[in-house]
This record gives sequence, structure tokens and C-alpha cells, in this order.
Amino acid sequence: QKIVVAVDGPSGSGKSSVSKEAARRLDAAYLDTGAMYRAVTWHALDAGTDLTDARAVAAAVKAADLFISTDPDLELVKIHGTDVTVAIREPFVSEAVSAVATNLEARKELVARQRAIIAAHDRIVAEGRDITTVVAPDADARILLTASEEARLRRRGIQLGGTQSAAELETQVLARDAKDSTVVNFHVAADGVATVDSSDLDFEETVTAVLAAITA
Ligand code: C5P
Repeated sequence: QKIVVAVDGPSGSGKSSVSKEAARRLDAAYLDTGAMYRAVTWHALDAGTDLTDARAVAAAVKAADLFISTDPDLELVKIHGTDVTVAIREPFVSEAVSAVATNLEARKELVARQRAIIAAHDRIVAEGRDITTVVAPDADARILLTASEEARLRRRGIQLGGTQSAAELETQVLARDAKDSTVVNFHVAADGVATVDSSDLDFEETVTAVLAAITA
């Protein structure tokens, strides 16, 4: 049967890897909405768009020719034909992405595209910051994946390969979450959203908890 699973959470909560694995086990598609924000940000930077110019940012997002794979076993993001799968994870994109994420016109455009992608699939796990509340509030299962600040920063350090100092990382991640929080609330579960706190869970335990919340 058709099943839509919505997962939200802050950076470092493990939502991407956990959602991807949940999708595999459900034989469902997987949508990383953060990658969409990252791709349009990469493109705006590449095109020399002034990120402080809200109208220019909104126009760039509306015109974006964006492709994102929804196969949990194929990570692929293209913008205007350029494969940016790896580039969108670079720190310069992470630092700039909030300029796009806090642009309401840009959000409206990406939300519409995300809804279209979700509608095109029979079974899909979509993750981000506003999936349970804005993109798919009618999802069959809605989960907020949380983790303590300490656990999130620890995971972030591992994920980035330990190239940046812990203090630098801490400042960056907290600053990005603080900026993002001004437009979307992903720290408190909305009505009907199940919270899974992964602070003291390992990967397998977190996947199990998320799958349990889906079937509950
Ligand atoms: O999940 P990830 O850290 O890759 O997301 C990158 C950025 O995209 C977030 O920091 C946030 O600014 C934005 N985002 C968003 N809404 C979503 C998903 C991501 O605003 N649904």
C-alpha cells in the first residue's frame, strides 16, 4: 500500500543515514530535502548570485533545473546538468545554505517540488526540517529524530572526517541550526509527531526505533 514517512531533525541527529536505511527496509524511495537546499545554494554561489538579495535568490531557486535521486542506494544530485552530489557537502555550502533556507519564496518553491516528488512515489521516506509539519503533514508516519547537543556534535565530527577542530564545528553547526530555527521548528515535535531520541542509541537501535514508530 502507499506509505509516506516524514522524518525531521536537526543536523547531526542521524536522520539521513537512519531514514535511508529505513527506506531500504521498507522497500521505499528516499528523499533528502536538505540536499535540495544545498544544491540550489551551490548553484547560486556558482552563478555569483548575491545571497543577501532575497529576490535574486528566490528567482534562482524557481529557475533551478534540479534532479535528485530517490533511490536509497544511489546518491545523485544534479543542478543544471552538473553532478553536485559531493560538492554540496563542502563547508562553504553548509555555511551559505541558511540564506536560501530562510528565504520564504525559495522554501515555497522547494516545498512544492518536494510534494510533487512524494506524490510520484508509492512508498517514500522523506527527511528534512519541515517534512512532518509543512511538506507532508498528512504522512502515514511522522517522526522527529532528536539527539542531545553532545551526541550531535560528536556525530558531525565523525561525519566530516575530523578535519575541522571541535570548536569550529560546534560553532558552525549551532549557528546553522539557530538560523534554520528562525523559519522552521525542528526541535519540538508537532501534534501527532513521534519523537525518537537517538542520543543513547546506536545506528541499528535508532533504525529499529524509527521502524517501530512507523508501524505503531
Ligand atoms: O539536512 P542538511 O543538514 O543537509 O540540510 C541542509 C540545510 O538545508 C539545513 O541547514 C537547512 O538550512 C536546510 N533545510 C531546510 N528544510 C529542510 C531540509 C533542509 O531548511 N526540509
